[in-house]
Amino acid sequence: MDSDLSDSFNMNKLLLGPGPSNVPKRVLTALSNNCISHLDPDFFSILDEISENLKSLFKTENETTFAISGTGSAGMEAAFANLIDEGDKVLVFSCGLFGERMAEVAERYGANVVIKSKEWGEVFEYNEIINSIKEYDDLKIVSIVHAETSTGAHQPISDIGNFLKNRDIIFLVDSVTSFTGTELNIDDWGIDVCYSGTQKCLNVPPGLSPITFSEKALRKIRNRKQKVKSWYLDLNLLKNYLGEKRVYHHTAPVNMLYGLNEGLKICLEEGLEKRILRHKDTSEYFNRMLHETGLKLFVKDNVFSLPMLKSIQLDKKISDGIRIDILKKHKIEIGGGLGHTKGLIWRVGFMGCNSNKESVDVFFETLKNYV
Ligand code: PLP
Repeated sequence: MDSDLSDSFNMNKLLLGPGPSNVPKRVLTALSNNCISHLDPDFFSILDEISENLKSLFKTENETTFAISGTGSAGMEAAFANLIDEGDKVLVFSCGLFGERMAEVAERYGANVVIKSKEWGEVFEYNEIINSIKEYDDLKIVSIVHAETSTGAHQPISDIGNFLKNRDIIFLVDSVTSFTGTELNIDDWGIDVCYSGTQKCLNVPPGLSPITFSEKALRKIRNRKQKVKSWYLDLNLLKNYLGEKRVYHHTAPVNMLYGLNEGLKICLEEGLEKRILRHKDTSEYFNRMLHETGLKLFVKDNVFSLPMLKSIQLDKKISDGIRIDILKKHKIEIGGGLGHTKGLIWRVGFMGCNSNKESVDVFFETLKNYV
C-alpha cells in the first residue's frame, strides 16, 4: 500500500459504510489551504484542471464537465432540472432507493414519469430495458442508477446508450457510488449526462457533485421551451461562470474544490485501471471471506454485487444493533439498511483508499467478537 492509501488508517475511525469514506492526508491538507477568491485567475486554473481531470476519469471529451456545488443529490437535481421541459416523458429504471429518488426528483421538475421497478437486490437485464424503451414513442429521457447504494447491486449499463444514440432520447446515469471504483465509460457507452459524488470512491468529503453533459444533452437544454426551474442549478447561468466569460453566479466552494482537485490527482496518479482492479480484487476477497462465515450477500445474483459496496443479509447470529457497538468500541463505521431493508441488511463500503485486503480483514476480525 502506498502512503496515500495507508494515510486513511491514521484516521480516528475507519469508515466502512456507504460513504463518506476516509479522506487521505493529502486531501485534508489541500482542503486547509488558504482560501482565495472564486474570481481569482489562479482559482480559474484550478477549475480548469478539475474539469480536465474529471474528463479523464469519466472517459469523456465533453467540454461541459465540472463539479456542481452540492452533494450527489444536487447533481441529480441539476441533471433533471436542466433536461426536463414540462411534460417530458422520463423513463426511470429503479431497483432501490436511489432509483426511486430519481423518479421523485424528475416528477418535481414537471416530468411525466414512467417508472419500471425491480425488487431491491435485483438488476435489469439488457433486453428488459430495451423492450421497455420500445414501449414508448415519445420518450425524452431514460435514467438509471449504475451502483444502487441502497442494495449493493451493480446495474450493467454499457450497451443502453448506444441503443439510444440515434434516437431523440437522453441517457442519464447516476454514478455517485460507482465513479472511479468500477468501469464507467461516458463516451463509449453513449451516456449523455452523468453525475457523481465526492464522498465515495474519490475519498473527498461530501459537498460536490462531478457532472458531465454531452453535446446531445446540451442541444436539448438549448432548445428548452421554459427557463430551468432551479436558478442555482441552471446550466446556462453556471456556464457563464465556468466558461470564458467568468461571470459571477454563486460563490464557488473554493476549499472543497481544492480537496476535489487533490482527490482527482490521487486517482490519476494511481491510474484508473489499476484503481478499478484494486476494487475488484478487494471485492472478490470479501466475497470469499463472507462465504467462510456462512453469511450471504443481499444481491440476488453475486455476479451483480458492487465491488465498492457489499450488502450482507443479517441472520440470527448478528443483530443490527451491534453496529453502534462496533462504532463505539472498534471505531469502525458500517452502514445499515435503508427503507424496508432497515434491520435486515448491512452495507459495508470499501471505497477508494479503503478498498484493500487490510480493511476486509479488520472487518471480519471485528465481527468475530460478536458471532
Ligand atoms: N445516488 C446514489 C446512488 C447515492 O448513493 C447517493 C448517496 O448515497 C445519492 C445519489 C445522493 O447523494 P448525496 O447523499 O451525496 O446527496
